[in-house]
Amino acid sequence: MGIGNRGLGIEKYSRTYFDLIEAFKQPDCAVCRLIDDAVYQYIDIFIYENITNVARRQEIREARLFCSLHTTKFMSGYGRLISLATLEQDVLNDVLRSASRVLANPLPKHWRVTGFLRGASRALRRVIRPTRNCTLCDYEQSMERVMLGTLIQFIDEPDIRASFEGSAGLCMPHYYMGLGMSGRHERIITVQQAVMTRVKADIDEYVRKRNPLYRDQDMNEDEAAAPTRAAKLISGRIVHSDGRW
Ligand SMILES: [Zn+2]
Ligand SMILES: [Zn+2]
Repeated sequence: MGIGNRGLGIEKYSRTYFDLIEAFKQPDCAVCRLIDDAVYQYIDIFIYENITNVARRQEIREARLFCSLHTTKFMSGYGRLISLATLEQDVLNDVLRSASRVLANPLPKHWRVTGFLRGASRALRRVIRPTRNCTLCDYEQSMERVMLGTLIQFIDEPDIRASFEGSAGLCMPHYYMGLGMSGRHERIITVQQAVMTRVKADIDEYVRKRNPLYRDQDMNEDEAAAPTRAAKLISGRIVHSDGRW
């Protein structure tokens, strides 16, 4: 390739491919780990580039901020709280304005009081309810598809295959998602069976050694951490409000 063509050739491997290889060397689900990083980056870019974008702000207002998990993510990290506060103002302004309109409606004469209360409650529920998805959930889902798609597409390449086979596997939500995507799944299934069997054995040992009858038997490090590892395997990410993994 001539110098003039540098950068124009189609790269066989994306950045995600190399990110996955590195993340599979870390504990727990690699997709969870990369998604976590991606969401934090997305939040920071949003704060710098889109916090004043009217359309983006409207989406977040309609979603009534973010889901609980992503609001927690938005709260962790220095400097994000002021941006979160701006978005919270939007939501509360909107809810209070709409609720005031509902409550200011005069009582229709033919309604009994209980009827009015029921009608008002129904109308207030409509005011509070989000009318669209959490935008960070949408982003996460699109990134999950890219990452799992890359894994499935390149699973027979020696580098990613070796890395995946030596890894802690995928969490069950990402395993489930991957199985629903097109491509060959045999290698992933083999690794997942081995990973789940290993974690199950550690959990069994943990439960057994917590029994007072076996209290004198020491747990190894893997067994002691088994409930947390199994939680991450079964449920996906565990969110700490201070951003800890
Ligand atoms: Zn995962
Ligand atoms: Zn969300």
